[in-house]
Amino acid sequence: MPAAKLLVIGLDSADKDLMIEWARDGSLPHFARLLENGRYGEMVAPPGQCAGTAWVSINTGCSPARHGCYFDSQLQPGTYNYAKFLPQNQQARPFWERLSKAGKRVAIVDVPKAPASENFNGLQILDWGNHDPEYDYARSCPPSLVQEIEARFGKDPVGSCDLLARAGSGPADLAALRDRLVERIKTKVRIVQYIRAKGSWDLVMAVFADSHCAGHQFWRVRDPNHPGYDADLARALGDPLKDVYVALDTAVGELIANMDSNTGLIAFSDLGIGPNYSATFLLRDIVRKLHANARNRRSPHVDALRWLWRKLPRSARIRGRSILSPVKRDIDLETKDRDYFTIRSNDDCGAIRINLEGREPAGRVRAGREYDELCEAISRDLREIVNLETGEPLVKEVLRTDDLFEGPRLADLPDLNIVWNQKAPVRRVHSRKIGVIERRHEGPRSGDHRSRGFCLMQGPGMGNERLPPMSAMDLAPTICSWLGVEFEADGSPSLTASRH
Ligand SMILES: [Zn+2]
Ligand SMILES: [Zn+2]
Repeated sequence: MPAAKLLVIGLDSADKDLMIEWARDGSLPHFARLLENGRYGEMVAPPGQCAGTAWVSINTGCSPARHGCYFDSQLQPGTYNYAKFLPQNQQARPFWERLSKAGKRVAIVDVPKAPASENFNGLQILDWGNHDPEYDYARSCPPSLVQEIEARFGKDPVGSCDLLARAGSGPADLAALRDRLVERIKTKVRIVQYIRAKGSWDLVMAVFADSHCAGHQFWRVRDPNHPGYDADLARALGDPLKDVYVALDTAVGELIANMDSNTGLIAFSDLGIGPNYSATFLLRDIVRKLHANARNRRSPHVDALRWLWRKLPRSARIRGRSILSPVKRDIDLETKDRDYFTIRSNDDCGAIRINLEGREPAGRVRAGREYDELCEAISRDLREIVNLETGEPLVKEVLRTDDLFEGPRLADLPDLNIVWNQKAPVRRVHSRKIGVIERRHEGPRSGDHRSRGFCLMQGPGMGNERLPPMSAMDLAPTICSWLGVEFEADGSPSLTASRH
């Protein structure tokens, strides 16, 4: 075995290209040393809904068609309603429970999307300081640990980065957010060191969320091409994203200092980050226009109801809307009368569900040829849309979920995933079928995810080769294999570990 014990450090959505650039210019000395001495490869999230699936696939080693998670609010199978998708709804268990059952002592700190593990041979802290936490309070196993941690180190100094960014976006507000992120990094190092000192661990895994928050909130400060860029802001703040990465590099340095020769290290990032040029916010409008254009399959009842609605006096329509609005929040009233509809999804990828007979309550598209032809027609219509900013296609590719994955929860996932061509801002789009749609992206997040993270490994007797890209699903079996435990998953141990 390459190492008897392991320290695993996750840097949530830390971008590999930025890390390498800043390692080269001397800003990230610890990362530079790891790149020089360790094995490095890219880590690829399951295609499709990358940002919504990456962490769950990392934790379980399974594809979305097995764990069933693609977003934090999901369509409930057999209905047209949404419900929050919580970690306890995941249909696969995290790898550290397997390690615990095999008698390994494990400490898990702030791993995103992790369910609470019970009867556990070790310690677990959940959501002390995460981006988009599942609950707005920290939990732990054993339950008393979180009080001990918060009494000693305080609560998460950041909270929701979106709320902070929405509340104020001037130099002082963004500097305050940067300072809180740096403070959270330093505090988490102290928490991890405190936990490490509590026992003799076979595995310690800790995740820093700060690169995730900084990537979403600070991208516009550093990128002159971003529509939200403001030169005065950039002059006042410098590059706060880089400041956060520098603080993370220092944190990694402190955590790996004085590691004994028996302990291996994995430092990784689940995803990358770049400018937020998503068009998920436009997908509903696009699909409405496509439906309006394809009148042939629309139910005559819907047309009749629409005609009647428009004939009502304005006051009655306003009253009607207020009566219907609580219902509309969860159920798009037009959904069941359509062949397909958009569903809530991540910014990095739009999602479409086919109104499939036998699966949806008012399904109207038959499985087989009709389904295939509809998927093909939707893909064609979407690929024809042009971003008028560049003249390039708006859509990079349309992926059919059943081409990507196999597993018992396949039917819970979107049918089609629309990967955006994120090269330029999206403000005006056009195609023959939808005409021109003009709308601006709203919301505080100027940065958004890219599908590739990285994985760096260092251990006794290990070389410093460059590795071919591994899947995010390979990480859990790789960690287990390092510790001599077999873990059944969709992924497999990366050749790094198995070659030893
Ligand atoms: Zn994110
Ligand atoms: Zn955040």
